[in-house]
Amino acid sequence: MEKTTTYTISKFQAARQCRCPRCRTGAMFAGSLLSLKGQKMAKYCPHCGLKFEMEPGFFYVSMFVSYALNVAQFISVCIATYVLSGQSESPWVYLIACCLVAILLAGFNFRYARVIQLYWLTPNLRFNPTYYGQKKVKDIKLEA
Ligand SMILES: [Zn+2]
Repeated sequence: MEKTTTYTISKFQAARQCRCPRCRTGAMFAGSLLSLKGQKMAKYCPHCGLKFEMEPGFFYVSMFVSYALNVAQFISVCIATYVLSGQSESPWVYLIACCLVAILLAGFNFRYARVIQLYWLTPNLRFNPTYYGQKKVKDIKLEA
């Protein structure tokens, strides 16, 4: 077997680009992050064929990740609002700022909650370099 040194992207880069956690090549989401059609996740990785929703209700956990992301964003927004509004005491200012951020970042939270779950909260799912890059599933099967 020939030894090849191929460049692979880092786990963080792949997660940021919403790539499949196993091959780091296939896109997990069909549209773009700012798509107006809504967020649609692919059922299977278009590159290596990994089934993203491994069992029924698998993405139930990502709801909690999304909740944690939202809390972190709300705290940041409240601190920023407090500083930028000259220490406002009106609760409406904070409520409106939080609602605005929740709506604006809904797509981001949906995507990255699932990405975080697949990359860091699924212990038996690891990067497999044989799937990385231009290799297609049928080529991998021929080599084995
Ligand atoms: Zn894949």
